[in-house]
Amino acid sequence: MRLDVVTIFPEYLEPLNVSLVGKARTRGLLDVGVHDLRDWTHDRHNTVDDTPYGGGPGMVMKTEPWGEALDEVLADGYEAGAGAPALVVPTPSGRPFTQELAVELSSRPWLVFTPARYEGIDRRVIDEYATRMPVYEVSIGDYVLAGGEAAVLVITEAVARLLPGVLGNAESHRDDSFAPGAMANLLEGPVHTKPPVWRGRGIPEVLLSGHHGKIARWRRDEALRRTTAHRPDLIERTAPEAFDKKDREM
Ligand code: SAM
Repeated sequence: MRLDVVTIFPEYLEPLNVSLVGKARTRGLLDVGVHDLRDWTHDRHNTVDDTPYGGGPGMVMKTEPWGEALDEVLADGYEAGAGAPALVVPTPSGRPFTQELAVELSSRPWLVFTPARYEGIDRRVIDEYATRMPVYEVSIGDYVLAGGEAAVLVITEAVARLLPGVLGNAESHRDDSFAPGAMANLLEGPVHTKPPVWRGRGIPEVLLSGHHGKIARWRRDEALRRTTAHRPDLIERTAPEAFDKKDREM
């Protein structure tokens, strides 16, 4: 998969060199390009913003540097055979970023991110590229950040860990919160490791039983309990037939 990020703070994306994403890059599973938007400005001050039409506070990111940057980044990717691109526009007014969307994005060969600053990017830029490729306007939560770079890091990490070969154990996201299958729409319950007793606290007996059926049931019960406590909306959104008899007894 190829990822391109156009930003006025390329250094903000340095975490893409470490941990899971960094390793995926070194192993050739992910090709990441971070580009400084100011490279496509032509004035002495490398201006990327201007006052908003219609008045109001704040500044708006200008069309021209974004247009030139995206044209060049896209041309490079096409030349390198990156496949069909999709534009990912972080914005608090976008659709919520969910595991389902992470799965969808992970199936695309090439994502181009446009993290903004100030009051965002002149709308015409997004409308222009929407005529050429799918555009995902994505919000990582109901709050407003100063810029979209942190959102790019969040989205990239969620997407990268779904790519084949990135996680050491391909099974490890099977039981994650929100994973499709038996635990769909449920948050993951508590997890434990050695030692068996820590500061007088043991671990649930069932986890030592070696009985796979009982362990699976305990995990599902804990997931249901946790989801009911923290995210009752997920339970409400789940079709009644997704719950078995034991679920309903809880
Ligand atoms: N005036 C904009 C609004 O209320 O929708 C907020 C602009 S915000 C200060 C600047 C940039 O940060 C946004 O254009 C976007 O790139 C990014 N951003 C802020 N909050 C975000 C969120 N919750 N999800 C994704 N991106 C976000």
